[in-house]
Amino acid sequence: MKIAVLPGDGIGTEIVAEAVKVLNVLDLKFEMETALVGGAAYEANGHPLPEATLKLAKEADAVLFGAVGDWKYDKLDRPLRPEQAILGLRKNLGLFANFRPAICYEQLVDASSLKPELIAGLDILIIRELTGDIYFGAPRGRRTAVDGHFPGSEEAFDTMRYSRPEIERIAHVAFQAARKRSKRVTSVDKANVLETFQLWKDVVTEIGKQYPDVALDHMYVDNAAMQLVKAPKKFDVVVTGNMFGDILSDEAAMLTGSIGMLPSASLNASNQGLYEPSHGSAPDIAGKGIANPLATILSAAMMLRFSLNQPRAADRIESAVKDVLALGLRTADIYSDGTKKIGTREMGDAVVAAITKKTTKG
Ligand code: NAD
Repeated sequence: MKIAVLPGDGIGTEIVAEAVKVLNVLDLKFEMETALVGGAAYEANGHPLPEATLKLAKEADAVLFGAVGDWKYDKLDRPLRPEQAILGLRKNLGLFANFRPAICYEQLVDASSLKPELIAGLDILIIRELTGDIYFGAPRGRRTAVDGHFPGSEEAFDTMRYSRPEIERIAHVAFQAARKRSKRVTSVDKANVLETFQLWKDVVTEIGKQYPDVALDHMYVDNAAMQLVKAPKKFDVVVTGNMFGDILSDEAAMLTGSIGMLPSASLNASNQGLYEPSHGSAPDIAGKGIANPLATILSAAMMLRFSLNQPRAADRIESAVKDVLALGLRTADIYSDGTKKIGTREMGDAVVAAITKKTTKG
């Protein structure tokens, strides 16, 4: 099991170190190799995604990724910015399916801005198409002189597009994921005004016929955004395009109240994947030893389940995280009265201790 470890920038190095520590106590044999990515790679090699890093990622079974970016790079030309490394990895590895579970842990119900009864027991999965839509449409977005309502001024446009095969493959991913859960898929579109999403709706409906055991419904994106805060537990698997998924998955993440808890997986057709926390590099707290490593540790669990075929090891990590929360241990972002505040390293140690305690017992 070959893992490319790409910690990146800011808190990336701190949180990935804890995930690696957890992987190392599972009694499994991993070949882990670390490489620079993002701002760290730009500083060392003049490019956020050096050839050697891309080669390592391509040759691995999975990539464990921290986070990239820092405000100090905002003035760089776009292709040299740290965030381009993620786009480059997605494109080169063909990572078209992004899984973002939003789970509200019992002990963290009070961290949400929603009423406890709305989110207690929340467990939804947003599946976002990752390599199509308006972010990758051709012709690429550009600015031109205007020839419409305001002659002599300028305008900008971007192209929204999806092909049938792109929609088919993400629909299959969603229906198959739903089969392992409560067998419900909500496809989110804007078919009432966009031709791209009329095609989306038609294709998802067709593919749905191959999964008669899974219930499919369709929802416009504006309604979905509303329902996610009104009655989030109505959803199970949500499948949508790249841009709507970008927005809705952040909304769903925040329902649980703690960005530091949420893992993600981006997979290609052969289940090779990139696993990373849903949050960024948090430059405001980098180097302070207070970042929450649990999203990254839970991303490592997703990696074991989806790319490395080790579901039992994934269960062990997830159950250890629940044990640690039940003990009242919290990093600053999820701290509340009556719990114990600990740092990044102590949180990693606590997860390791919970895993090894269970191993010794059982
Ligand atoms: P961010 O997610 O890095 O931080 C938002 C807020 O959440 C900050 O207050 C931060 O301290 C806090 N936070 C984030 N992760 C945390 C954790 N694990 N524990 C405790 N607190 C945590 O978003 P931002 O501030 O908008 O962006 C910072 C940089 O990260 C930017 O350069 C941005 O482009 C980049 N970014 C990278 C990724 C990625 O690598 N996939 C994703 C989003 C943003």
